[in-house]
Amino acid sequence: MAYTSESFAELVSTVSGPVLQRGDAALPAEVAAQNTAVVHDPEVAVGAAEEADVAAAVRFAVANGLPVRVLATGHGSAVPVTSGVIITTSRLAGLSIDAEKAVATIGAGNRWESVVAAAAEHGLAPVTGASGHVGTIGYTLGGGLGPLARTFGFSSDYATSFRVVTASGDVVTASADENTDLFWALRGGKGGFGVVTSMEFGLVRLASLYGGSLFYDERDIPAVLRAWAAFTETAPEQATSSVAIVRFPPFEFIPEPLRGKTVISVRFAFIGDAVEAERVFQPLRDVAPAFLGRVGEVPASEISSIHNDPTDAGPSWDRGMLLSGIDDEFVTRFLEIFGPGREVPIIAAELRHLGGATARDVPGGSAVGGRSAAYSLVMIGAPDPALFDAVLPQIADGITAQLSPWVSTETNINFSSGSLAVPGLFEESWPAAVFERLAEIRRAWDPTHVFPYPDFPARGA
Ligand SMILES: Cc1cc2nc3c(=O)[nH]c(=O)nc-3n(C[C@H](O)[C@H](O)[C@H](O)COP(=O)(O)OP(=O)(O)OC[C@H]3O[C@@H](n4cnc5c(N)ncnc54)[C@H](O)[C@@H]3O)c2cc1C
Repeated sequence: MAYTSESFAELVSTVSGPVLQRGDAALPAEVAAQNTAVVHDPEVAVGAAEEADVAAAVRFAVANGLPVRVLATGHGSAVPVTSGVIITTSRLAGLSIDAEKAVATIGAGNRWESVVAAAAEHGLAPVTGASGHVGTIGYTLGGGLGPLARTFGFSSDYATSFRVVTASGDVVTASADENTDLFWALRGGKGGFGVVTSMEFGLVRLASLYGGSLFYDERDIPAVLRAWAAFTETAPEQATSSVAIVRFPPFEFIPEPLRGKTVISVRFAFIGDAVEAERVFQPLRDVAPAFLGRVGEVPASEISSIHNDPTDAGPSWDRGMLLSGIDDEFVTRFLEIFGPGREVPIIAAELRHLGGATARDVPGGSAVGGRSAAYSLVMIGAPDPALFDAVLPQIADGITAQLSPWVSTETNINFSSGSLAVPGLFEESWPAAVFERLAEIRRAWDPTHVFPYPDFPARGA
């Protein structure tokens, strides 16, 4: 035990949420991650129920020389935490909407689905990610590229202030007026700065949009992929789209029309007039007969139905990267790797179209990585943990090498955090100057590395 029993007893008496130590029966559930392949086993877990609990946990950790990590949903958990303190944020559930100002104040325990639902009551919407199940803060700290990205930009562009418990255990506000260096870093710089307890987040006025997804048969994959690639060359900024080649396993829980099938899905969202939206989408609708799905008017409250990401916890492995562009040769290689008839333990290979508003920085700038990228690529591995340590990383390395002419030198931490143990990926998530400024800001706010980030050694290091 790397801490004194007196200091632990004092922590228990100060904190209003649960305080657990290694060996306690309730600890595994408290630190359970969405990615069940990662089992955290910290020395101490503090279930923060209020901001003061976070501060007390940080002071306890500092007094005992322990590192502090934050767990919201565990969607980003890639490596088990086996030391120090984990602060869980799910009880920090405060959420309020100022409808007039179109601003949400979001406690760190909220997932996007809560904010989407609360904002929709006022005809407003947050610029979210694909999945409503992902945590608001962890996602925003990495930037956040969602189904409306080309029209509205990175989600972090909408964060207007953060309340942060720093390494000293003090609470500070980071905004365009206060602690501006920290504010710059938190919009895209991800971890190693402190624990965010809440953020203020600008909402867009949006009651509905035109969007959804269509599924096409395996035989139509080449035609659909080529049509989508051509579509993205001229798509207006009002349109954000993506494609995914998905190999659905033959499991009972997969709905019948998809069970055991390899398909391509096209996802589309358009902000603006529905007639214009349908005209823009027409080439993708016409390219082949879709056997499932719908693209049409959707309430903003149902935005996560565009990607329909799974919400059940389970083992997961992914590798993501950004692309500087794609062309015919890229599509040919992509089809050779993931196309019809290929045997590859990647159950989904997804390409998203970026650009438009994602390329434009916010006034004052922010740390977000990926403004220069035109597309993203995410590969999701077969959900078999036996493949996670060696087989999938090796396959992903090989595919990345084959696609290297199109891979951007820049990436985005939300798309690479699943594989930060790959040497160099952490550093490459930001342009060199941004990376160095982030390191300086981390040194200034956390000189003794209370918040290690990334918190595991690179593979082979
Ligand atoms: C199904 C799925 C869909 C996704 N879709 C998208 C998408 O569309 N666009 C996109 O950009 N990303 C997407 N992601 C990636 C996602 O944004 C990251 O994994 C993100 O880190 C998840 O944050 P979390 O808080 O839910 O997860 P957690 O694993 O709980 O947290 C991840 C990290 O965020 C930091 N963190 C979380 N909360 C706090 C806090 N309060 N204070 C300080 N640090 C904190 C910590 O460093 C923590 O390790 C997706 C991931 C999954 C699994």
